[in-house]
Amino acid sequence: MLHQASNRFNPEDLWKKDHDHFLHPYTHFDSFKEEGSLVLVEGEGCYVKDAEGRRYFDGIGGMWCVNVGYGRKEIAQVMAEQALQLCYTTTFVDVTNAPAAELAAKLASLAPKGLNHVAFATSGSCGIDTAIRLAHYYQSRRGASERKYIISRKNSYHGSTYLGMTVGLRDGDQSPHFRYVPDLVHHLSAPYPYRRPDGMSIEEFSDFLVEEFRQKIESLGAENIAAFIAEPAQASGGVTMPPPNYLPRMSKLCRDNGILFIADEVVTAFGRLGHMFASEAEFGIVPDIIVTAKGLTSGYIPLSAVLFSDKVHEVISAPDGDAWFTHGYTYSGHPIACAVGLKNIEIIEREDLLGNAARVGDYLEQRLAGLGSLPIVGDVRGRRLMMCVEYVADQKTKAKLPDEVNISKRISNECEAHGLFVRPIGHLDVLSPPLIMTKQEVDFVADTLGAAIRKVTDELVREKVI
Ligand code: PMP
Repeated sequence: MLHQASNRFNPEDLWKKDHDHFLHPYTHFDSFKEEGSLVLVEGEGCYVKDAEGRRYFDGIGGMWCVNVGYGRKEIAQVMAEQALQLCYTTTFVDVTNAPAAELAAKLASLAPKGLNHVAFATSGSCGIDTAIRLAHYYQSRRGASERKYIISRKNSYHGSTYLGMTVGLRDGDQSPHFRYVPDLVHHLSAPYPYRRPDGMSIEEFSDFLVEEFRQKIESLGAENIAAFIAEPAQASGGVTMPPPNYLPRMSKLCRDNGILFIADEVVTAFGRLGHMFASEAEFGIVPDIIVTAKGLTSGYIPLSAVLFSDKVHEVISAPDGDAWFTHGYTYSGHPIACAVGLKNIEIIEREDLLGNAARVGDYLEQRLAGLGSLPIVGDVRGRRLMMCVEYVADQKTKAKLPDEVNISKRISNECEAHGLFVRPIGHLDVLSPPLIMTKQEVDFVADTLGAAIRKVTDELVREKVI
């Protein structure tokens, strides 16, 4: 298979085309010029192969998304069958197609109680746009048209459209080259327990974050706030698990003040934490709106789904002259994508991948915790199949290593040389493997990452960096 696939092109020629013509997302132009691209040609289970035949365990799951693993024939079959039968329908106004209606009903049956309605989009970013427009429309239709502010948190990532960029706020993403959507978003502190203020207990930190939100509501006026948006566990902003009871208390403040709670579950839905949805099962909250993408189709095709509550639906669908929700995409409810979503969920259920993610994920947590004693490891955190290691120069002071060391990239390169992908983000290496991972693979990942950290640590000692 690999040789057939890779023989279809000349890797050198492909690399040149890629380099000369393809603007990659989030590319740093200087390092891209030096290193070029890794050309991947094939995937099976948890593994991918590059054009030279090297095999890697994909510890990143594509990009938090290939939940059921690569090379699923039954997904390919469903795509082909749906493409031949009916490749496209609009779903505007009163046209629909069977996979979209079936998937909407299936999602409603799996979602926390009361979230019985679904709007489809094509990506996490477009899902976030949909959720925010829905929140504004809901508030306006219930007679609160002044409610336009969105409350978000620092270190969050909500997508790469202009709205997603404005709502999110990760370190390093803020840029003078863009104009953020003005007068829309207010950011609270990040729920980042490892880097909470010195001397604060975790409970005090939770109190501090909740009090900050309370004061923000007071200063802006609840009557001006549409929604609070949060990844239940912040993903690329630090793989942070919230302090205990923080989310239920934030959710209560929302409820008490007429503010919608939008949970961005683009990463956490469909199994990463061992649940279809993490909001209720892991964190004890039932949001008004949940945005999903990635694991919904395991990356086989782009699709996102915005689930929302009966409460929201009742207001937006109430008869009111000519009011209508002027929102939707050409590809909302795309039949091939929705057919893939249905098959993907069927696989997750049939193979008990939630159970596997829970069992294997608990073991991954346990094995990675063992890396915590290595001198440049400041924190090992996360939950189940959403984990990261944060590197520091000094475990006591938590001081970071100099940026020039490029620590996470240096360690991920070392992992790559030994057949493992981890994802470098800032001073972290992140793991989000497919849900089909085995315990033996956990051992391989923990051993390989540990060896890479030890090797780079020795180099840093020799280079007198630490
Ligand atoms: N929200 C979260 C939490 C994400 O991690 C991402 C993507 N990594 C998005 C939204 C945006 O999704 P997409 O890239 O599909 O637009």
